[in-house]
Amino acid sequence: MQLSAANFPARPAWVEIDLRRLRRNFQLINRDKSPALRLLSVVKDEAYGHGALEVSKVALESEVAFLGLSTLEEAIALRDRGITAPMLLFGERQEAELPWCLERGLTVCVNEQHTVLKLGQLAAAQNRQAPVHLKINTGMSRYGVRWSEALPLIELICSRKSLALEGVMSHFAQSDEADKTFALLQLERFGSMLRSMADRGVSVRYRHLCNSGGFLDLPQAHFDMVRLGILPLGVFPSSVCRRLAGIEPVMTVKARIAAIQDLEKGDVVGYGMRYTAPARRRIAVLPIGYGDGFPRVRNQGFVLLHGRRAPIIGGIAMDTTIVDITDIPQTGMWDEAVLMGRQGTEEITVHDVAKLKNSVSYDVLTSWRWRLPRVYLNDAPVA
Ligand SMILES: *Cc1c(COP(=O)(O)O)cnc(C)c1O
Repeated sequence: MQLSAANFPARPAWVEIDLRRLRRNFQLINRDKSPALRLLSVVKDEAYGHGALEVSKVALESEVAFLGLSTLEEAIALRDRGITAPMLLFGERQEAELPWCLERGLTVCVNEQHTVLKLGQLAAAQNRQAPVHLKINTGMSRYGVRWSEALPLIELICSRKSLALEGVMSHFAQSDEADKTFALLQLERFGSMLRSMADRGVSVRYRHLCNSGGFLDLPQAHFDMVRLGILPLGVFPSSVCRRLAGIEPVMTVKARIAAIQDLEKGDVVGYGMRYTAPARRRIAVLPIGYGDGFPRVRNQGFVLLHGRRAPIIGGIAMDTTIVDITDIPQTGMWDEAVLMGRQGTEEITVHDVAKLKNSVSYDVLTSWRWRLPRVYLNDAPVA
């Protein structure tokens, strides 16, 4: 047999990305929103571990206006793969990055005077006009110019012919919890800044404030565009935010059984002997561990096998997870287990996995390592 990439054996642990669900989620979002509202699809950090290129393609089929990224490398990687859509780079740029942003047509967020002046000079030297989005700090206190002190920077941008103030944006510190008090205060600050801009006759095409939580729960804050990261991936940002019926998670994490052992009463399992069999048990070994991004738990959590829950026993190792299959006797070698996602009527949600590591869904999605191959399902657009 000729060995080649075409018959290379896939690792028996992988991440499935269902592009039909992604497409459907965008459809449901598009149906829910007002027609004039533009979408920016946030595909930073490989679209939260789903694959920036694949997610961007579906997003662009779904008529998003912008892609949102965090690093210059991420944006250039997409440009190199043929994505020509408008891209907005979040955060602040080092001066040395600005020529690259200009050259590759990347729109930058500006937060302070230095970057405005430098980008203005660069663009002027090339006889170009660079679009910028001004970030306003309305209370998150991360990036951005303080809402009450933004006007001089706005006037500086407007005074440069080589710059175009295309957007004004801010970001919520908390938009998906039941208590919207602080979000509404941020909205009020953003609104007052926009009013004083308008009073000076400055208009911008894109005013944007909302992430997924704001999109769902704060329609009065939608303005011209919303920036959606987690929602199109089928994950709600919190347990209390508004639900969009039909939204389904795009990512499933799977592994196949690579060993089966029978334990006698008193046998121990794994590093540190963290599990002792209370009676005869049958256990199965999955070739996936914390080195793949699963939380390093001990005797906690479960996986799905034959549509049933198999408890995790012992400690998770770098490449190995062990589960008790005593009550699922039909289990055999290389059977498929689900570590995150649905199997039959059972489901392990991203929130279930997040609890195991005392964290949030965002962290879990972005933690699955790239040594787990991504398998894309339903690539062709649905007619
Ligand atoms: C990551 C990010 C978002 C997306 O947030 P979601 O809650 O995933 O929708 C939006 N805006 C900015 C500035 C971000 O950094």
